[in-house]
Order: sequence, then structure tokens, then C-alpha cells
Amino acid sequence: MENVDLLFFGAHPDDVELSASGTIVKSVADGLRVGMIDLTSGEMGTRGTPQTRKREAQASARILGATFREQLDFGDGALRTGREEELILVDVIRRCRPKLVFTPYPDDRHPDHTRAGRLVTEASFYAGLKALETGLPAHRPQTTIYYLQNYMFPPSFVVDVTKAWKKKMRSIAAFKSQFHDPKSKEPQTFISDPKFLEMIEARGKHFGALIGVEYGEAFVTKQPPRVDDLIGAYGGREV
Ligand SMILES: [Zn+2]
Repeated sequence: MENVDLLFFGAHPDDVELSASGTIVKSVADGLRVGMIDLTSGEMGTRGTPQTRKREAQASARILGATFREQLDFGDGALRTGREEELILVDVIRRCRPKLVFTPYPDDRHPDHTRAGRLVTEASFYAGLKALETGLPAHRPQTTIYYLQNYMFPPSFVVDVTKAWKKKMRSIAAFKSQFHDPKSKEPQTFISDPKFLEMIEARGKHFGALIGVEYGEAFVTKQPPRVDDLIGAYGGREV
């Protein structure tokens, strides 16, 4: 782990890829440093072993151009959110000193996503408390940004990821054990159905259409982003 501009958290390996990896590719292309943290290794998944998924996650991070990717062990399927886990995240944030933190929206179909969103939000705040001494200097990110998974909420902003889309889909395909593979003999799951990747594609097009581009990724923030160029912000769209 080292200093990065943006730090992306997922409850499970592939969470970030499905919802926000186009933004990673775009940010890396823009010269930003991006780190990735999986709170679990996805050990409760129906397909693939934790070892396979670890290899797949590293392969995906290389495709995206992430500076690093780390996996923590907070418990897939029963994500722990106690003080111990909170303090681990406080130190992760203090070590990486991100300007922005990305995490699942803290209300989702999978309870691990909900818990991850809340835990990361709270740890990001606590990381800035000087009186909370952990041996590392305090650091508070500018804000926590939520990516959308199963439940949809009105986006606060949409990132144009048109140029990043191919790499995003390649990073998802790196999780060979999880998604559609006609040769796989493992049991079929919700996400290994070919329709799932079609849905990701459709969602990217839908969010893109909202801002007048081919592909987009949508995010929610509790506080709105500042807009410096109003005309540019609505470029490419007509009422
Ligand atoms: Zn997940």
C-alpha cells in the first residue's frame, strides 16, 4: 500500500470492476494514482476458489493500471464492521492518503455491500481525527463517493468512460471463474449467466446516455460536486 489519489473499496473482488472500473482506467489515463482494496477475498462465492479469485483480482488490477490492490479478511457473507475492522481501515486510509474514497452505496441487496459502504464512510471520517492515535498521521479524504450495484439511486454525477469501456470489460473478463464461460463446468449463478454482462453493458450505455456520451458510470455523493463549467457540464445534450 502506498500514497494514491483515489482509493476504491469493494466488499468482494469484482465489485469495483462491475460498477466503477471505467473511472479507474480514465483516472489512470489522466495521470492519477489509484489503489484498490477488497474487504474480503470472496470466499463464499459459488464458483472459483479464493486462490483463483485472488489471482484473477491481481490480473484485473494490472489491466486497470492500479498502483496496488490489497485483499483484507473481513469475512465474505458476514462482513464484520466492529471497531477492529474500523481501525484497520483507518490505518489503510492514513497509509494511502487518498483525496477521494470510493465505496459501495450503503444500501444494497447484498448486506456485505451495505456494511462495506457504511464501514468505509465512517472509517474515512475517523481517519481524520488527530486525537485517534494509531502511529500514523491523521488524514481525511475530501469525500466518500458511492458507486451503484444492485439498487439504483439518482446519480449525483456521471463519469464519461467511453474510452475506458473496452478495458473495463477486459478487467471483468479477468474474473474467468465468475462470469460467463461456455467451457466452465461450475454451477450457473446470477452473474455467470451471459445476460448479466449484457446488463452491465446496457447500464453503461444508459448512464452514458444521461450525459450524452456512449458509456458512463454513475456515482452518488451526500454532498454535491462543485461545477466550474456549467455549459461544458451539459455539453452534448439537448433538452
Ligand atoms: Zn459484491
